[in-house]
Amino acid sequence: MPDCIFCKIVKGEIPSFKVYEDADTLAFLDINPIHPGHTLVIPKEHAENIFEISSENWAKVQETVRKVAGAVEKSLGADGVNMLMNNREHAGQIVDHAHVHLIPRFKGDGLNKWPHKEYKKGEATAIAEKITAAL
Ligand code: 5GP
Ligand code: ZN
Repeated sequence: MPDCIFCKIVKGEIPSFKVYEDADTLAFLDINPIHPGHTLVIPKEHAENIFEISSENWAKVQETVRKVAGAVEKSLGADGVNMLMNNREHAGQIVDHAHVHLIPRFKGDGLNKWPHKEYKKGEATAIAEKITAAL
């Protein structure tokens, strides 16, 4: 994809702080980290999001995610790691090249958790059935 920032990073046309690379995946520091060490893992082959990436490339990304998550936690002395993927604009995706965020977390780091709601009676069953029916 000629205009894709992350494709340009893969090709070396835009500089990045690489932390890991293999034939199919790349991990590099997010330019505006939530915490220092916030890392992005991407497939080298362009795919917009989770809905478009091939099963093979997704499996490879996940292997790299697991490998790099451990290194991020250990090297930074973090107390945990969030892995997050935004898919599509209204889920917060800004760069349209599939990527998984690895965010080191620290005890008492003040990052708020997402709100949690409660289901009304019967609602959970209906929603679970709806999702299952779409598979
Ligand atoms: P999204 O909101 O699409 O899930 O996240 C995109 C991420 O890419 C953001 O956290 C942003 O800081 C990061 N980002 C955007 N442009 C660049 C860039 O040119 N280089 C690097 N290393 N990160 C970028
Ligand atoms: Zn791309």
